[in-house]
Amino acid sequence: MQHCIEEILENCRRYTLDGEVASYIPELSKANREEIGIYVATEDGDFFAGDWEKPFTIQSIAKTIFLMLAAKDNGIDFVKAHVGVEATGKSFNAIDYAEPLLLREHINPMVNIGAIAVCGMVKAVSNEERFQRLMTFSRRIMENDELQIDEEVYASEKKTGNKNRALAYLLKNSDMIYGSVEELLDVYFAMCSLKVNCRDLARMALVLAHHGKNVHTGEQVIPEEDAVFMNAVLTTSGMYDGSGEFATTVGIPAKSGVGGGIMADCPGRMGIGIYSPALDKKGNSVAGIRMLEVLSKSQKLSIF
Ligand code: GLU
Repeated sequence: MQHCIEEILENCRRYTLDGEVASYIPELSKANREEIGIYVATEDGDFFAGDWEKPFTIQSIAKTIFLMLAAKDNGIDFVKAHVGVEATGKSFNAIDYAEPLLLREHINPMVNIGAIAVCGMVKAVSNEERFQRLMTFSRRIMENDELQIDEEVYASEKKTGNKNRALAYLLKNSDMIYGSVEELLDVYFAMCSLKVNCRDLARMALVLAHHGKNVHTGEQVIPEEDAVFMNAVLTTSGMYDGSGEFATTVGIPAKSGVGGGIMADCPGRMGIGIYSPALDKKGNSVAGIRMLEVLSKSQKLSIF
């Protein structure tokens, strides 16, 4: 397996030249588009290649953390009563939602507007506590007590995130956010700026691959039914408006972020963390998707 991972990475390296690093958050444009890393975690051992240790910001993959904790706190039915699970077919930060605005079936937890609402469902008496709970949960599910926020990316995102601000105020207007919008956005921006590497993502994915259980410690990190729910949501809408195509070519639950990360899991088998910051027009890592395609075909990972 180790040899297979190294070969896949080398064969896909050239695709890094086909994408562009994200520039809508100024700090992200500093990434080196030629970097590429992969980490595969299994119950029996780990395999890795390339720049897997390179830290990058988690960005949209934080949406999975919001959803896991909100579901754990409130139950899946509560979350689904407020935010739908249909693929929107729109870009991640779309604002063109039909009137009457925010019919629950028009948004889902994997697009910004839905994710901001779900972030607000994480139980806490203050947004500071909400942030701390999300950090504690992230460190636990990724088995990494050292996880920190990238302060530069956070500041850059907070300064320029006016579209997210607009989305959050739309939510507030529809009574889908309680309390301070700006404070909740601070939590959202900070969590998108969580610094991770491929191993962190692979560890989180391994929990999803094993019905919410950490197979190393035996700890049930999230309820079994929540892991099944998460995998279903990731399969239908984790790869932005490229989720359908990804289902046909790779066929496993996955979530990408504009920092160049992809977290993917093959139920019962493995957790995968990818980093390669050159993105396609939809915001997905070009070489990252290629690596997953080859891995899926060679290891017969597709769940379909
Ligand atoms: N922090 C980013 C935003 O909300 C996340 C974008 C992404 O990775 O899709 O704009």
